[in-house]
Amino acid sequence: MTMRTVYVNGEYLPENEAKISIFDRGFLMADGVYEVTSVLDGKLIDFDGHAKRLERSLNELDMPHPDVLPDLLEVHRELVRLNGIEEGMIYLQITRGAPGDRDFVFPDPETTKPTVVLFTQNKPGLADSPAAKKGIKVISIEDQRWARRDIKTVQLLFPSMGKMMAKAAGVDDAWMVEDGAVTEGTSNNAYIIKNNTIITRHLGNEILHGITRAAVLRFAREAQMQVEERSFTIAEAQDADEAFITSASTFVMPVVEVDGVAVGNGTPGPVAARLREIYLDESRKVAI
Ligand code: PLP
Repeated sequence: MTMRTVYVNGEYLPENEAKISIFDRGFLMADGVYEVTSVLDGKLIDFDGHAKRLERSLNELDMPHPDVLPDLLEVHRELVRLNGIEEGMIYLQITRGAPGDRDFVFPDPETTKPTVVLFTQNKPGLADSPAAKKGIKVISIEDQRWARRDIKTVQLLFPSMGKMMAKAAGVDDAWMVEDGAVTEGTSNNAYIIKNNTIITRHLGNEILHGITRAAVLRFAREAQMQVEERSFTIAEAQDADEAFITSASTFVMPVVEVDGVAVGNGTPGPVAARLREIYLDESRKVAI
């Protein structure tokens, strides 16, 4: 891969010159939040939604706002420009900074400033993904994450283990289950479609409030589709007509198998395909 230009605390640097302290609380305590915004046609998709959720994550953790917060759109755009990104993602992470030692107590925000890092991921063909035509397979696993999944923290060890469990089972991803109901995918929101009704878990602390989820549900309602925000089980998913996931980097991705059972006829269904098309078309129109 060619050398990227990344952003670290106010500076644009070659990736191999960017440095963070070993005392950074993101490194020592996973005391950090992040966002991933996709880029299509060299423009940012759903930027405002990601910026609002970022601010909410900071507030929920009493994390000081970095000075650059109001200028993050410009930083994103500059990284897109410097790295020549047409299709891909921008990763952003803010941590509570590096107080110079390890301590459970939060550092004084007057003396310890948050750490802000952004970098690009170039992904040509992101929108025209072969996986979207084939669909993905998932297994179910027990949801063993902490209880504030509505905050987008960098504490991703369990989701990462979930992806490894999926890989070991020869499938693409895992859906997490708590008290008999699906919460969400390891890095995406989960949906089923039954009798033309789109069913996805209601919002709460148990799931991340996906920015793509919000947009897709809005487009679905505008297209007069029925939407039910409620819990569903793995058995319901296996008996559904269709299933899919959403996230900033996969948009709308059909799910064709759950725990070894084909969903519908085992191929991507028409509703998921239509939602993917609407989401991509409408988001591109308002990309900035
Ligand atoms: N749920 C989890 C656990 C995630 O990690 C993500 C994205 O990373 C999502 C849902 C989807 O959110 P978004 O659509 O904002 O990318």
